[in-house]
Amino acid sequence: MNVTNKPKTILVTGGAGFLGSNLIDFLLQKGNRVIGVDSFETGSPENLQHLHNHPQFTLVNHNIQYPFQELEEIDQIYNLACPASPIHYQKSPVKTLRTCFLGTENVLEIAKSRGIRILHTSTSEVYGEPQVHPQPETYWGNVNSFGPRACYDEGKRVAESLCYAYREQFGVDIRIARIFNTYGPRMRAGDGRVVSNFIAAALAGRDVCITGDGTATRSFQFVTDCIEGLYTLMNSDYREGPVNIGNDVETSIQALAEKIVDFVANTTGKEKVNITYHPRLIDDPSVRKPQITLAKAKLGWAPVVPLDFGLQKTIEWHMHQT
Ligand code: NAD
Repeated sequence: MNVTNKPKTILVTGGAGFLGSNLIDFLLQKGNRVIGVDSFETGSPENLQHLHNHPQFTLVNHNIQYPFQELEEIDQIYNLACPASPIHYQKSPVKTLRTCFLGTENVLEIAKSRGIRILHTSTSEVYGEPQVHPQPETYWGNVNSFGPRACYDEGKRVAESLCYAYREQFGVDIRIARIFNTYGPRMRAGDGRVVSNFIAAALAGRDVCITGDGTATRSFQFVTDCIEGLYTLMNSDYREGPVNIGNDVETSIQALAEKIVDFVANTTGKEKVNITYHPRLIDDPSVRKPQITLAKAKLGWAPVVPLDFGLQKTIEWHMHQT
């Protein structure tokens, strides 16, 4: 581990999104200057409104599918730009693939021309419907290249390959984080991801809808753990390959739904909503849990926020939005 506190100028693509805006807050709190880049495809300027007059922060409206024009001197890049929720990335699959390939290429070009480090955010989706459980970084995955999720899963896989190629061919200093399901404040209600969907439904007094029978599992990581993990990886000496950044406590979708229904009822004093069951989505993985021994050993990082605490915080945030 080699975490440095020296202030830097840092470019964050996807800065107006859920993770990007939380990362920007974190980097600014550490005394860095930050340039956020976003095309507002799925993110919102509201996520960064509190930084409107921040002297160390600049927001640039730019689509990373196109080369950057002018850019001041920067020391590091975090590449987060990409729609992350199935309803968003499937809306225009070609756009998603272009962001993954052309977008990542444009950002890698900056890192190459300036000789600076880039952290690319990949995903647990590169493991597809896993035949190895839990998933270590050495597992190559089981992904359908010809289906509705392929634009994201294969897009993220090719982006990893591009990072590898830039490292091998041009010596670019890369870090790759394979992020597992992350939730928390600023994940928008109705953006199609399971935690925010369930919370939004329960708060609105609607049924919580499970796709499938509820036995599918995920491992949910609170946003602050994820941001710490990204920052620690970026500033570490570990450059050999991708690192899983996730929580290794596995939860069934049924258990998640029940927790959210209970917590929302207890917090609002309203009646519990019902849980209903709907057909399973195509290619939706049945299990998902990271092996995080590499992150623990090489970064000295591990998630610390328990699911119950994180869910309460997220529910409170959603309540203040309505
Ligand atoms: P998000 O949708 O909230 O944020 C993505 C941001 O990227 C948005 O602000 C969007 O407007 C922006 N964007 C999309 N295409 C762009 C483009 N071509 N040019 C510029 N900006 C563009 O998603 P998130 O949850 O914050 O995810 C951030 C990154 O982390 C993504 O790359 C995602 O694949 C990865 N990730 C997230 C999770 C998770 O659970 N949240 C899990 C695995 C990987």
